[in-house]
Amino acid sequence: MAAVTVVLGGAALVGEGQTSSAGQASTSRPHPHAATGATSVTTPQATSRATPLSSVRPTSSHLIVGVADDAATGGYWLAATNGGVFSFGAPFYGSAGALSLTSPVIGVAAPSSGTGYWMDAADGGVFSYGSARFYGSMGATHLNQPVVGMAAAPDGQGYWLVAADGGVFSFGSARFYGSMGGTHLNQPIVAMATAPDGHGYWMVAADGGIFSFGTARFAGSMGGTPIASPMVSMTPVSDHAYRMVAADGGLFSFGAPFAGSAVGHLARAAVAMSSPAVGYRVISADGSVLSFGGAPDLGSVYVPPLVGQTVAIDPGHNGGNGSNPAFIGRPVDGGGFIESCDTVGTETASQYSEHAFNFDVATRLATVLRGGGATVVLTRTNDIGVGPCVPSRAAIGNAARATAAISIHGDGGPVTGRGFQVIEPLPVVSSISDNRAIVPASLQLGASVRTHLAAASGEPTSTYAGSDGIVRRSDLGGLNLSTVPKVLVECANMQNPVDAAAMQDPTWRQRAAQGLADGITSFLVSREIP
Ligand SMILES: [Zn+2]
Repeated sequence: MAAVTVVLGGAALVGEGQTSSAGQASTSRPHPHAATGATSVTTPQATSRATPLSSVRPTSSHLIVGVADDAATGGYWLAATNGGVFSFGAPFYGSAGALSLTSPVIGVAAPSSGTGYWMDAADGGVFSYGSARFYGSMGATHLNQPVVGMAAAPDGQGYWLVAADGGVFSFGSARFYGSMGGTHLNQPIVAMATAPDGHGYWMVAADGGIFSFGTARFAGSMGGTPIASPMVSMTPVSDHAYRMVAADGGLFSFGAPFAGSAVGHLARAAVAMSSPAVGYRVISADGSVLSFGGAPDLGSVYVPPLVGQTVAIDPGHNGGNGSNPAFIGRPVDGGGFIESCDTVGTETASQYSEHAFNFDVATRLATVLRGGGATVVLTRTNDIGVGPCVPSRAAIGNAARATAAISIHGDGGPVTGRGFQVIEPLPVVSSISDNRAIVPASLQLGASVRTHLAAASGEPTSTYAGSDGIVRRSDLGGLNLSTVPKVLVECANMQNPVDAAAMQDPTWRQRAAQGLADGITSFLVSREIP
C-alpha cells in the first residue's frame, strides 16, 4: 500500500468543533421543514418500481450499500457490498466486483470536482477509480471498530474515513478537524459528510445525533428525540444545512427544503442518500432509487428479495438411519432433556418413507429460495447417510447465522387424522441452551409458514394436533437448541390415506415447497426494515 497519512481519532484530539452529543438535549431544534416518516404525506416523485426503466434494470446479487453523485454529469453511481458499481447517467470508471474482498464495501464517494470515485470497505480498505486517486487506507491496520462512512475532499485530492466509534482517518488534502474517537457515544456513528468548502465535516449517529467539525456548522439534530428507525446516512446541502435518512426511509432536513420521505415506499432498508444539484435521492438495499424535489430519476438496480438472507433447511431423519440403530440411538442433550441422536421416521402404507419425502421437499424448497437470491444451508445433502444428530442439525443453522430455519417432516399421526402442523418453540432454558431470544420471531415465522403452506398446498390444518395448524412444544431439541428463528413443519400425516396420496405426488410436493418458501420469504421481507 502507498504511504499513509493517518490521524487517529484519540482523546487528545477530541473536542474541537461544535458538537451535539447524541445523548444530550439537542442544542438546536429541527428545521421547521424537518419531518419524520410518520408525519410525511408527500409521495415520492418516482419510484424504481414505477419507472419505465424497470425493464432494463441491471441485477445485482449483492446488496446495494452506497450512492455517489457525479457532479460533472448529474448522474450517479450505486455500489454493492461486493464492490460492484452501477452507473446511471455517469461514466463507469471501474469496480471491484471481480475481486474477492476480505471485507464488504460499505460506501462510495465522489469529489465535487473530478471524474472518478472511491469505494471504502468495512476494514478501512479504499478502492480508487478514474481521476480519484489513491491516497492511503486503513486496510492493513487493526481497527477497534469497522469503518462505516467515507467523505470526499471537494478538490478530489483526498478523503476521510469514519469508524463506528467516531474515529476519523484523513488522507491526502483532507485535513483532520477532530473526531469522536475516545468519547463515549450512546449510539454508533453511521455516516459522515463533507462541508462544501472541504474544511470540515459532520458525523451522524444511529440516533440522529450530529457532530460537526471545522467549517461544518451545526444546524440541528435528532439526538435526544426518539426516531422510529435508526439513521443510516446524511448528505450536505451547504455549510449550514444537511439532510439525513433513516432505515425506514424517514427523511430529516435541517436548514434545507424538505421534499418528501421514503417511508412506506421501501421494500428493504434505506442505506444511503445523495444530494445532486436539485432535490435528493434515497437509496435502498434492494437497489431502488427514490427521487425527491426534482432530482432526476436515471435508473436503479434490481436486487432479488432474498439476497443477504440465509435459510437453514433441515430435512428430518435420513435414509441410512434405519440400518444404524446404534448411532442414531445414542443419547444426546436436547436442551434440558435427553433424547436419542435421531430417529428413523415414519412411512406411508405403501412404504413411501418420511426421510425421502423430507429430502425431496427440502430440495425443492432450497431451489425456490436460491432462485430468490437466498443463501441456503442444508443439514444433510443426500438421503442415504446417517444422522446428523438433532443437536448438530440445530448447530448448522446457528453457525450459518441463518435468518430463518425450518425442519421438514411428515407426521405419523392417527389414521383418521389429516392435515399439517407448524411446531413453534416454547421458551426453554437449560444448562446448554436458552432459546428465549428467538421465540417471538419464530412465532412470526410459524404464522407466515402456516398461512402460505395452506394456500399453496390446499392441505388442511391438522385435525388432531394443535390449533389452527399451530403447535407449541418444549420437547424438541431442534427448537430448544436453536439460536435463530426456527419452526418444524409436519407437512401432512403419512398414516392417513388422503394425505399419503398427496405426499406421494411430486406435483403436491412442489406446491408444498412453494408454500414453505412463500411463508419464509414473507417472514424475512417483513423484518427487512428495522
Ligand atoms: Zn419426522
